Amino acid sequence: MRDRFVLPPGVLYLDGNSLGALPAGVADALVAVGEEWGDHLIEGWGADGWWDRPCSLGARLAPLLGAAGDEVVVCDSTSVNIFKAVAAALALVPGRRVVVAERATFPGDLYVLEGLLELLGGYELRLVDGPFDPASPGAGIPLESAIDDATAVVLATHVDFRSAHLHDMRALTELAHRHGAVVVWDLAHSAGAVALELDDCAVDFAVGCTYKYLNGGPGAPAFLYAARRHLASARQPLAGWHGHLEPFAFSPAYKPATGIRRFLTGSPPIVAFAALDAALAVWDEVEREQVFAKGRALSALLIDLVDDRCPELEVATPRNPARRGSHVALRHGAARALVAALGRRKVIADFREPDLVRIALTPLYQGFTDVWDAVTALRAVLDDLGGAA
Ligand SMILES: *Cc1c(COP(=O)(O)O)cnc(C)c1O
Repeated sequence: MRDRFVLPPGVLYLDGNSLGALPAGVADALVAVGEEWGDHLIEGWGADGWWDRPCSLGARLAPLLGAAGDEVVVCDSTSVNIFKAVAAALALVPGRRVVVAERATFPGDLYVLEGLLELLGGYELRLVDGPFDPASPGAGIPLESAIDDATAVVLATHVDFRSAHLHDMRALTELAHRHGAVVVWDLAHSAGAVALELDDCAVDFAVGCTYKYLNGGPGAPAFLYAARRHLASARQPLAGWHGHLEPFAFSPAYKPATGIRRFLTGSPPIVAFAALDAALAVWDEVEREQVFAKGRALSALLIDLVDDRCPELEVATPRNPARRGSHVALRHGAARALVAALGRRKVIADFREPDLVRIALTPLYQGFTDVWDAVTALRAVLDDLGGAA
């Protein structure tokens, strides 16, 4: 599958969880959508299926999420979709006033959550210091123990963007439901990286990115999942004409479209959709389980080799493969300098405050030799650092 990607020669790319590599089919797909636009102009909305693209792409993505085709829509950014999904979730449990999330989650999620709750007024945001907060490992209470009968909504990030800790989606969703709460899962570092069974786990809502492990390109639109049982009643506050039942009636009164379409707001990014559609083609040719199993094997090899050859790096990612996503975080006081030194060797990893080197395992375009090469590069930059000190 590596041939399905365009990577610069000589570069070892270990940052596919921030921005996935360029799929080979994308350039042609962008030319093709340009031709649709040039040839069909406004007619493209019907003739080329642009109008339905948020839903048809959602249906294409659905199997990767363990969802049905009519439960997923592709639109907006993950941040905006969190706003819509949490607002819709809160509306399902009127009278409850507590939203639970992890302090260590992606900060942007918290900014959106705070903005929404401030706008609504009267809500309490209960932030827990999860057990895998890399700033204070071992400290804090788990998300589970903060959920009680007052909880309205739990916003849970499935794979932590720092540590790669992976929550038990089924158990956490069940627990929340036992307390009468609604769960919104953030799958930014999960989609395309680990197996997902949203329907089977009875998840309520989920959102996530397509520019990370799904290789949709910089700024690629996000997805939003709503369980079928919520589709008829779910209301979201960014109601817009693309989510209207009869958009071309241009009625002053909003009537939500039946189904997942009601989560749309305004005109979707058709050009960006073309890149994402081409990027998703690779999943038609692989066994998903095989890809995810290879991802776990790549991260296991990385952890083993780091333990063996780079003992000054502390593995900050769960060692249990069932509890980690598809990257490995390595803690070192000079993490920032290490990542910069790797970059000078054309090894692209990333740094996360305060002291983490993050290495993404992307089995579609990485091999096991890449992991060996990555650890050899890590050893060399650690030696250089030692020599310089
Ligand atoms: C990457 C990431 C985001 C980013 O969302 P956008 O709004 O699409 O930029 C949100 N949440 C998590 C957990 C992430 O890792």
